[in-house]
Amino acid sequence: MIEGADKYWNPILETMHQEKLRALQLKKFKKIVQWAHDHSKFHRQLYADAGMEPGDIKTFEDIAQVPKVEKAMMRDIQRKDPFPYGDALCVPLEKVTEFHQTSGTTGQPVYQPDTWQDWEWWSESWSYIMYAQGFRDTDRILIPFGYNIFVAYWAGHYAGEKMGCEVVPGGVLDTKARILKMQELKATAMMATPTYVLGMADTARRDLGLDPAKDLNISKILCAGEPGASIPSTKKRMEEAWGAKVYDHVGATEIGAWGYECTAQPGGLHVNEALFLGEIEDLETGEIITEPGRRGKLIMTAFDREAQPCVRFDSKDIAEWAAEPCPCGRTFRWIKGGVVGRADDITKVKGVLLAPSAIEEVVRSFSELSDEFEVTVTKKGDVDDITLKVELVPEAAGQKEEVEARLVDQLRLKTNLRYNLEFHEYNTLPRYLVKARRFKDLRKTH
Ligand SMILES: [Zn+2]
Repeated sequence: MIEGADKYWNPILETMHQEKLRALQLKKFKKIVQWAHDHSKFHRQLYADAGMEPGDIKTFEDIAQVPKVEKAMMRDIQRKDPFPYGDALCVPLEKVTEFHQTSGTTGQPVYQPDTWQDWEWWSESWSYIMYAQGFRDTDRILIPFGYNIFVAYWAGHYAGEKMGCEVVPGGVLDTKARILKMQELKATAMMATPTYVLGMADTARRDLGLDPAKDLNISKILCAGEPGASIPSTKKRMEEAWGAKVYDHVGATEIGAWGYECTAQPGGLHVNEALFLGEIEDLETGEIITEPGRRGKLIMTAFDREAQPCVRFDSKDIAEWAAEPCPCGRTFRWIKGGVVGRADDITKVKGVLLAPSAIEEVVRSFSELSDEFEVTVTKKGDVDDITLKVELVPEAAGQKEEVEARLVDQLRLKTNLRYNLEFHEYNTLPRYLVKARRFKDLRKTH
């Protein structure tokens, strides 16, 4: 038995020597490119247009020759046959057993077909995540969501069952009923977006007179959908509110669940390198970055997904490789600070590159401020103007001047920008139920 085997979902793959792991990745990469080429018109045409064939890939360096796939390309194919998926589909329609779609927050949704084998692969990839975060067969997990047409939490549900946990679907219950169900069943774990994790704690205290850290049994929370669990000050707020460990994970409908934090919490997320290839590409030069400490966007490949393969998909997630191995013993590389932004969200304000998560990190580090805030960027003449709205918590009423001065300093230090600060009455900024839209760039519409 491998030492510490009970720490890993797949001890062989998760502790494989890096060189062997790269060889395995290359082999799997070649296989999925060949599969996509042989079974889909879309991929065949894409490779032909780039003047390449699957057989051209011989070394790791050759991978960069394979053209990237953008979300917009996936939208285009879905106006073609066979209905409704289009010609990237690699299996006969009758093999498709699962339909999901992207949320469409950045445009027309993309349909995602999966076969039964793909669906098992989804729960396998989620098992890596949950096992690394300490989920075991003794856990009772309440999932406080009505899962529907989006893939979120379906795979978490099935992976929980696969690992032998007891899974309680929180379905159509409202927030209060979910909290009471958690209390009644002594649930030990849950999965939710950071916005909802904080919102639930607020509801528990305000409407039910319950302190989640004392009155509920939740010991771990698996977060998804927003970067909050990788932002130290937001993570701390959630952990304190619930008296629980909070772990991040990252994935996308088109790619799969490719990254996860482990219980060692090194300050970032492992890429599941047994099931995925993660490449970081320089935003300006397009060069593949292999060294630590340089940010770029992640290009993701899922090795084993057959219905609609994901080969070199441009995820638009911004990340950088960590320098040190993780103390958990996994040899999978990890990205420092998690996904630190989206290529689409990182924007220039007054000539300075700004990631909205940097503002969140500052605001959430002030205990005098509530969980809510809003950032608006506008243009006054030719000059960018950036406004940050915050709320003082009732206990900090009367400390506005002092908080404001410190906030200005911290914001300038962390983001190099000056803000118009607006202090609003507690509980008056918009509350979001699941995913928040706190950053509004209004310059493009003016
Ligand atoms: Zn680790």
